[in-house]
Amino acid sequence: MLNIFVEANCNRYVRDECQFCHVYEPLAKIDRSDWHLLPEQAQVMADKIRKLDIFMELAQREINLTGGEPSQNPHLVEIFKIFRQLAPNVRLHTNLDIHSKTSSRWTRLVEIMKMKGRVDFTLYPTVWETRQKPLLKEILTLQDELIVNMIFEKVPDLLTQIKILIEFFTTQGERFNPVLALLENYRLNVANILKENPECSEEEFIKSMEGAENYTCEGGFTFLVNAILGFFVDEHGKRAMQSQPFPKSNNLLECTIPRGTIEIMTVQQTGEMTPCCDVGNLQCQPKFGNLLNDSPDEIMRQIEISRAKMIAGAQKNRKNIDAGKAGEWVEEGIPPYCV
Ligand code: SF4
Repeated sequence: MLNIFVEANCNRYVRDECQFCHVYEPLAKIDRSDWHLLPEQAQVMADKIRKLDIFMELAQREINLTGGEPSQNPHLVEIFKIFRQLAPNVRLHTNLDIHSKTSSRWTRLVEIMKMKGRVDFTLYPTVWETRQKPLLKEILTLQDELIVNMIFEKVPDLLTQIKILIEFFTTQGERFNPVLALLENYRLNVANILKENPECSEEEFIKSMEGAENYTCEGGFTFLVNAILGFFVDEHGKRAMQSQPFPKSNNLLECTIPRGTIEIMTVQQTGEMTPCCDVGNLQCQPKFGNLLNDSPDEIMRQIEISRAKMIAGAQKNRKNIDAGKAGEWVEEGIPPYCV
């Protein structure tokens, strides 16, 4: 999958003010004049992707337009069309914190859904009733797929969000019965662990959720619900070793590079690339080149240089963790939880 930033706006309007938002720190530095990716830049990126086999392969699986908040970009529809020429599967991720159907942010999303682009969203309970819920109803009439992300800081928060979704889909008709069945099973698993072991570790939580599916493709509708851990971020923008819901154990990130594969590539608005879902918040220093400024040959050279650093850094991180020095940054500049 290719993640491409099309808009940076984190903390630029009232609701995005949480400093623990995973894009707060990287985006806070971006000048207002550079908030929006321009169609000309998107075209440069697309032309470069065409010339690089690794990128083309990832693009064929999926291109995910993200940010910040992509619906804020006034050129979004044009940018969508540019990336759509590369691959049929272009998704867009929104916060769906949109005041009404008259908003130009919403009309951009509608235009994209009508062109078979898919829109996913992150559930925010604070704006669910007034903003997200009415528009989600509309989305269900325009597309037959949906990914819902739920960021949670405590396990009870996750249960709250699941209940919100259950209440919603209960009123959407029989077509969504498989979605409801999935959500109900998910709810039971989360409720059960909260009852039996409320202070559970992440490992125990994962084990208890083994029977809970998060994906269904029945009744002509594909649905996926994604539970995402929240993390504290320090004053330098560095993510904690532990997640918020499971503070007793280190949360390690298995980097795919030492294993010899690239599954995701994230391209920031600046053109800088990292081979994982690092949108700048993880502060991984070895980049895979710059998609806007570097030639395909330069990018390939940079990939090899950074690959070696990631492999060496991941080994050092393992050693540090085993030696009780978890959290120390290594000279290769990869985050201490990446192994
Ligand atoms: S080292 Fe960590 S942050 Fe860097 S690419 Fe790998 S997983 Fe991502």
